[in-house]
Amino acid sequence: MEKKQFQAESKRLLEMMINSIYSQKEVFLRELISNASDAIDKIYYKALTDDSLTFDKDSYYIKVSADKDSRTLKISDTGIGMTKEELENNLGVIAKSGSLAFKKENEAKDGHDIIGQFGVGFYAAFMVADVVTVISKALESNQAYKWQSEGADGYTIEEVEKDTVGTEIILTIKENTEDDNYDEYLEEYRLKQIIKKYSDFIRYPIKMDVTQR
Ligand code: ADP
Ligand code: MG
Repeated sequence: MEKKQFQAESKRLLEMMINSIYSQKEVFLRELISNASDAIDKIYYKALTDDSLTFDKDSYYIKVSADKDSRTLKISDTGIGMTKEELENNLGVIAKSGSLAFKKENEAKDGHDIIGQFGVGFYAAFMVADVVTVISKALESNQAYKWQSEGADGYTIEEVEKDTVGTEIILTIKENTEDDNYDEYLEEYRLKQIIKKYSDFIRYPIKMDVTQR
């Protein structure tokens, strides 16, 4: 499969994330849950103005599932999803958060302040994962797509099967190193703690499902 390249700015941010010495790697989960919540907001607001859509509150939620055997952590949502073009444009490009522009102006500061003040969004996933897989089906699309990246050398995109509209972000969690523990991001108590700390205000239910070894 053809590997597509990230834009230069994205690649720089990605490299910053991958090589991050930032201690609070746990914020990756805040970023992914906030994106999931934004995606549900989008389908909610669409339903307000589109009579063919109904927003049934119970069908909209975020789910965090960990599987220790495969070392995967999945954040899924029933939000608006992404088309193939949106996967490429939104995940392959860094523009919105402005963290890179900030970095240029404050070259002396380290990544710590940048993440703390602005958030780095989706790419924060690369602080804890070797591989990031995004499976998404957009509301206005019949075809689902899988976007996958192992880091700065690019990403692949292909058609996949997915029945329901929404997005799954699947992180293959890094192995522990001498300096950093990553196993904790597959532990239920730890995930609950992070969610409580950063995502308590999220309006949609956050379900949890942890498969023990
Ligand atoms: P921001 O949230 O500040 O826009 P992010 O890097 O967190 O920046 O996300 C980039 C974009 O990717 C989002 O604006 C959105 O368009 C898209 N995106 C990310 N996660 C999801 C998701 N779970 N569902 C739908 N779109 C998403
Ligand atoms: Mg975001």
